[in-house]
Amino acid sequence: MGKLLNAGLALGGVVVALGALRRALNPSPRYAPWEKPRYDDFEKKVLVIGGGFGGYSAAKRLTDLTEEREDVGVMVVAKDNFFTFWPMVPGIVSSDIDARNVAQPLRRALVFAGASFRRAEIESIDTERRVVNAEGREFPYDELVLSLGGAPNFFGIPGVEEHAMNMRGVEDAERIRNRVIERFEEVSLIRGEVPESKLTFVVIGAGATGVETASEIHSLVHDALAPDYPNLDPNRVRIILLEGLDRILPEIDPALQRAARAQLVSQHIEVRTGLLAQEITGDRVKLNDGTEIHTENVIWTAGNRPNPVTQELGLPADEKNGIVVDEYLRVQDTPHVWAIGDCAAAPDGKGGLAPPNAQAANQQGYGIAPNLLRTLDGREDLLEPFEYKPIGQLVEIGGDFAVNEVMGVRFSGLLASLFWRAAYLTRLESPQSRARIAVDWILGLFLRPAVTQLRGSDE
Ligand SMILES: Cc1cc2nc3c(=O)[nH]c(=O)nc-3n(C[C@H](O)[C@H](O)[C@H](O)COP(=O)(O)OP(=O)(O)OC[C@H]3O[C@@H](n4cnc5c(N)ncnc54)[C@H](O)[C@@H]3O)c2cc1C
Repeated sequence: MGKLLNAGLALGGVVVALGALRRALNPSPRYAPWEKPRYDDFEKKVLVIGGGFGGYSAAKRLTDLTEEREDVGVMVVAKDNFFTFWPMVPGIVSSDIDARNVAQPLRRALVFAGASFRRAEIESIDTERRVVNAEGREFPYDELVLSLGGAPNFFGIPGVEEHAMNMRGVEDAERIRNRVIERFEEVSLIRGEVPESKLTFVVIGAGATGVETASEIHSLVHDALAPDYPNLDPNRVRIILLEGLDRILPEIDPALQRAARAQLVSQHIEVRTGLLAQEITGDRVKLNDGTEIHTENVIWTAGNRPNPVTQELGLPADEKNGIVVDEYLRVQDTPHVWAIGDCAAAPDGKGGLAPPNAQAANQQGYGIAPNLLRTLDGREDLLEPFEYKPIGQLVEIGGDFAVNEVMGVRFSGLLASLFWRAAYLTRLESPQSRARIAVDWILGLFLRPAVTQLRGSDE
């Protein structure tokens, strides 16, 4: 009888624990559907255009700060209804990370926090009437935040747009993976000489995105594809990482640059620095030293610029087309409009400009929220200037190696890779994505990813 009671209590404990876990992974929305006020009906309206690192963190903090207020409504309008967790995008190439977990549900996160969301592309701003036009609809605002992100910069190099693949999002990462598989399938059908260009992959730009992409292609080829293609020697695949500067990862410490380079070389990735691509054609990259690389597979990660849509909005811009803002991130000469993230030329509080990275966008979004409320409440005298506080750099090179610089502490290797994973896992907003990626990583210790080609997304 006693044993039965103990077993019953234990079972009850498990059921309660599972219920608590389920609730933690599936939080309830702030408003029940019948309680949710319409955005247009709020007395004070904050409209955020863009739901990435900057826009999302601004909207999320605003909803946190106004939890007890009935007068402030927040709406996010973005062209995608997902939040791209950029640091994990390169991991999609090797299938280490599932694309669905990198594109996190933006609508759910915002609606649950108490904001409204509409998926639409901005067309124009009427600053007199304080409305934004997007896809035929007018969105009113009292304060407007623009966080429209960036776009690749091709620096006018001939052939890049036509022949190179970008690495600017989830679809791009999937396209790159499909291209590698496509080449493996093509080459498997060839009897006789295989053109060198088919199996040569050139990644241009050795910043964090380029380094991680080259390494992910290596993992895809050697860990995932090689056993499925016994007639194709994976060592015939050349991966070349090309960089115009004389070093890779220019933003991190030289000792970590050397460690990263050594790791890439150990993966037989050819790191070629101090070389610029001058032209890209369908089957080669022409370099500034007069040589050529025969390749049909070029990936461009070398440049970033503010989203070109900002040029159509008629706002003051600097020579790189970043929206000019003051120390509080208010757009110059444009009352009630603010700009943050990659689309803004934002002062970093130390005499320079904040870099176009997730940390800066996130800090700007977080910091702008109280200033927006102070402005709405007529307390502009209390505005606090933005100051960028770099936390560090984390770069993963393969599943078991990373180079990290965190608050001045530098470390590399397996421990750094575990740190990379733990740090980014906890930064994911969606509890579902967090749980799924953690499970995928644990399974990945025992199982090789099964990689298939999804036709239609190669070109
Ligand atoms: C592959 C890759 C990896 C990266 N890895 C890192 C990293 O590891 N660490 C790091 O610090 N930084 C990283 N970055 C840089 C970082 O992602 C950006 O600096 C950061 O996302 C900028 O935030 P944002 O809000 O300005 O733009 P984003 O996060 O890009 O968000 C832009 C938002 O604007 C919306 N939008 C765009 N155009 C329109 C339009 N016309 N109308 C309406 N909405 C629109 C989009 O839908 C999106 O919601 C990476 C970038 C890339 C490309």
